[in-house]
Amino acid sequence: IARIQAQSRIRGFYREIYEDKKNLETILDVTKTISSMLNTEAVLYTIVKRVADITGAVRCSIVLIVKAENEGYVLASHESPTIKEIKLDLNKYPEIREALKSKRPVVVEDIPRHPLMAEVKDLVKDLDKMNVLILPIILEEEIIGTLFLRTRRPGKGFTEKDVNLCQIIAQAACHAIKNARLFEEVSKEKEDMKTLAITDRLTEVYNHNFFYTRLEEEFNRAVRYETPISLIMMDIDDFKRINDTHGHRTGDHVLKEIANMIKRLVRKTDIVARYGGEEFSVILPHTNIDGAEEEAERIREAISSHVYANLTKETMTMSFGVASYPSGKTIMNAGDFVNLADTALYEAKRSGKNRVVALGRK
Ligand code: GH3
Ligand code: MG
Ligand code: MG
Repeated sequence: IARIQAQSRIRGFYREIYEDKKNLETILDVTKTISSMLNTEAVLYTIVKRVADITGAVRCSIVLIVKAENEGYVLASHESPTIKEIKLDLNKYPEIREALKSKRPVVVEDIPRHPLMAEVKDLVKDLDKMNVLILPIILEEEIIGTLFLRTRRPGKGFTEKDVNLCQIIAQAACHAIKNARLFEEVSKEKEDMKTLAITDRLTEVYNHNFFYTRLEEEFNRAVRYETPISLIMMDIDDFKRINDTHGHRTGDHVLKEIANMIKRLVRKTDIVARYGGEEFSVILPHTNIDGAEEEAERIREAISSHVYANLTKETMTMSFGVASYPSGKTIMNAGDFVNLADTALYEAKRSGKNRVVALGRK
């Protein structure tokens, strides 16, 4: 009997060693796969898929935690490789909140009957005999996400080994999540920089550089596809007087108001830029000279009838030069185009200001 008992103990040891070996192999395998992947989405999906396979989970996902908003975002779920940031209200997940509070794995067996789930009893009443395991994913002592596992194994929750194994694999997701966050931040910063680089600070319309780039693009496109394009150049009349009598700050304010008005009055596809100090320009793709002249006239009217914030007793006016392609004049490139509109603007000033002059009608 003693010999049989000894043999049986040895078998038990063997089984344990065999399980440990299998788990170690899984860890090695997962970490190797992950380190060869660059795509965050693929890394996270690999992790949830493997954990779901090992544990027989009915639901396995990685949730990004946004503490400030008490929200979580499902970054990956084993059911689908392409899941996209489903939002979770953490108020409905006491088990996740418990893991965030304790910074330790949380096991809930038989979900509907567990005291921790009492506050959401109605929401989980269908999860009979199900177990849940929440594993915090920790980066620099802060919980950035959790691995969320639900299994249906009546009477058998999670062993310590299950928990340890999943914890190690979950932690492997840490850098992938960090990368995902970094990538988002960098993309946003890049986007902000781009906006800054093409926007005029004072008036928040496009700046001179961007105007030229876009004009060249739009002009070349118009030539290639034989569609009309128009350009309006405009200059505020006697603007020096505003600065001289009311000061530069008031002048700045008037510039902003005028820019806003122009933006409001043009069509969605038009491109408004600050060409120089008190000069603006509008590119009008797919618009012939008549359409552009009408638009300029509309802006002229609005500007001369507007009451300006700090100039209640004065009126402002603007002069407009309009040019279009194709034209009666020779326009070979974007530079010629600007020159023709500039000549029209000069003509509007010379003939008395507060008017629209269109040049090159065929
Ligand atoms: P007109 O165009 O009708 O011939 O007269 P004007 O007085 O507008 O002529 P001019 O082009 O000589 O003067 C433009 C003035 O616009 C001079 C400059 O001080 C002012 N200006 C240019 N940029 C700014 C700016 O950013 N803020 C303010 N406040 N003034 C500006
Ligand atoms: Mg000027
Ligand atoms: Mg002027």
